[in-house]
Amino acid sequence: MARLYDNRKRILVTGGAGFIGSHLIDRLLEQGHDVLCIDNLFTGTKRNIDQFHNHSRFEFMRHDVTFPLYVEVDEIYNLACPASPVHYQHDPVQTTKTSVHGAINVLGLAKRLGCKVFQASTSEVYGDPVVHPQPEEYWGNVNPIGPRSCYDEGKRCAETLFFDYHRQHGLEIKVARIFNTYGPRMHPADGRVVSNFIMQALRDEPISIFGDGSQTRSFCYVDDLVEGLLRLMATGPEITGPVNLGNPAEFTIKELAEKAIEMTGSKSDIVYRELPRDDPKQRQPDIALARRTLDWQPAVDLEKGLGWTIDYFKALLPELADSR
Ligand code: NAD
Ligand code: UDP
Ligand code: UDP
Repeated sequence: MARLYDNRKRILVTGGAGFIGSHLIDRLLEQGHDVLCIDNLFTGTKRNIDQFHNHSRFEFMRHDVTFPLYVEVDEIYNLACPASPVHYQHDPVQTTKTSVHGAINVLGLAKRLGCKVFQASTSEVYGDPVVHPQPEEYWGNVNPIGPRSCYDEGKRCAETLFFDYHRQHGLEIKVARIFNTYGPRMHPADGRVVSNFIMQALRDEPISIFGDGSQTRSFCYVDDLVEGLLRLMATGPEITGPVNLGNPAEFTIKELAEKAIEMTGSKSDIVYRELPRDDPKQRQPDIALARRTLDWQPAVDLEKGLGWTIDYFKALLPELADSR
């Protein structure tokens, strides 16, 4: 345990310069904690954490979680890992290492410090699910050797490591299975569907639907998600997860494209491109467990959340045009 002079905690956030991590840091600083953000800036950006740089309780360290890390903290949130298929497939070996070696290192750190450790797992552990919606008891339908496996199996192995450190070493763990989350500070060139569609719509460029657009996703606004992460971390040792965190409102990708066009007043057409291999056909979280144990459910509907996200990307446009 770190030595403290008052009640505030020193909290490590790996992947803190990324989309979700930077929103989590907002909340942790607001709550009065000290935050150590570590990130190798693979998909995260300094822009996401610029606003914290003069903050006396914020510290940034450029570091890759696949290497050991010796720091003194009271809690750990492990979010380091590229989340967009385009990025995690760019260097798949590094993606698996990030999930697996990264988990071993943060678990070793948590073991030495005797502190709580949170893992950002994913709905991808369910693969292309045949059970719908997906409850935590479902073991999933994952291809172990496909293009998405570096991410899916890496995250599954990280869950295994978390539960084995829990059983073998008595570590206090918190595992959340995060479903598609969106909002401001997603990278505009991230490649994920929400950022792609909004950027294409704002630029009046064709909206690229992969496949026929009948596949579904359930989109959670980032503020809702972060509230769930904080509630999970605040639970007692009996709550380990895995717990699904996501918004159960399910949409087809075609519906999302139409919404992006309508809400931006865009002149974009829709174009259909080849569906990537192993792309899940449906995804919707069963959040009964989160409701019961965390008293949590999302509050922001897609329309409202998309509106805020569109405003964020709109404000970025002039700067992006300069750097093109
Ligand atoms: P993101 O890509 O914006 O953030 C990931 C961060 O991790 C980036 O800042 C990146 O630079 C950093 N990172 C990557 N590899 C690293 C390494 N080896 N060492 C140190 N830092 C590294 O993605 P996000 O959407 O903010 O996702 C955050 C976490 O939540 C990830 O673990 C992701 O798998 C998980 N998750 C996200 C979603 C979602 O829809 N956004 C869904 C399920 C799970
Ligand atoms: N580790 C770390 N920081 C620490 C303690 C451990 O990064 O403060 C890493 C270290 O690289 C080690 C891994 O976590 O390999 C797993 O630690 P653990 O104690 O579980 O295993 P061991 O050291 O016995 O292999
Ligand atoms: N998708 C799409 N057009 C895009 C990007 C993604 O149609 O420009 C589809 C993708 O094939 C998938 C869904 O949108 O069916 C969600 O993709 P994303 O990469 O955001 O996340 P995933 O849930 O697949 O990890």
